[in-house]
Amino acid sequence: MFTSIAGRSVIVTGGSKGIGRGIASIFAKAGANVLIVGRGQAGLDAAARSLSGLGGRISTHQAEVSDRAACDDMARVAVERNGGIDVLCANAGIFPSARLTDMTPEDLEAVMATNFKGTVFAVQACIPALEASGHGRIVVTSSITGPMTGFPGWAHYGASKAAQLGFIRTAAMELAPKRITINAVLPGNIKTEGLDSMGQSYLDQMAASVPQGRLGEVEDIGNTALFFATDEAGYITGQSLVVDGGQVLPESLMALQEM
Ligand code: NAP
Repeated sequence: MFTSIAGRSVIVTGGSKGIGRGIASIFAKAGANVLIVGRGQAGLDAAARSLSGLGGRISTHQAEVSDRAACDDMARVAVERNGGIDVLCANAGIFPSARLTDMTPEDLEAVMATNFKGTVFAVQACIPALEASGHGRIVVTSSITGPMTGFPGWAHYGASKAAQLGFIRTAAMELAPKRITINAVLPGNIKTEGLDSMGQSYLDQMAASVPQGRLGEVEDIGNTALFFATDEAGYITGQSLVVDGGQVLPESLMALQEM
């Protein structure tokens, strides 16, 4: 049994949809006070409604994570509203597709700005409050795409997700004296609203490439983030954990057929 994190202050960037909303729901059920952050207020309001009544208090804040000043403002709001910051889940991300032959400098900049710089800025903004908590935790949502696998159209996305892992290794060392840990979760294919809209045959095909035979649920990622945030995970830092139902394991299609 892990020590309760009820009453702790948690920020989830990209908390209005998909994996971020799943992370927020797990922390809310654990009794944490969660600030969900995104660019669109309508999405944040809808998420707050769906997350209310789970346990901890949910509130919303509009911020663009690729803007350092907006991240500073986000941290200030969390401290004012929830009395500090114990956990930052740096999860906001975008995944537009662009083949190398078509990728523009703007495409590259947009993906790196949100996924990589947005992670760094959110972390930097929260360091003082995380240090003050005495048990600060940072959980970064990376991906199997980039650190472990590739997918045509996602060279820039994969690079941004691998960059997050390069970042956490040195960040973990700099943050250790401040008693802050930083770790990453690497999701496989997770069932989100975006994926649902691709249709059932697409979902079935994707699930067939996973040894466990199913796509991940957002709560699978939320539970991993919650584990990293516990007191008991305090000696783990600079690490990454793949949560993919075994998706990266088969060395070929034949390996899957042999199962
Ligand atoms: P999603 O459903 O599209 O949700 C993205 C969230 O991030 C939304 O809340 C969005 O709200 C917010 N966001 C996007 N850009 C932002 C910005 N510049 N500033 C602030 N908030 C921003 O995405 P998802 O599938 O849940 O993905 C979440 C994370 O998981 C990403 O880092 C992604 O790389 C990673 N991931 C996802 C999968 C998967 O299968 N879904 C697999 C591996 C990794 P607004 O649009 O209102 O800003």
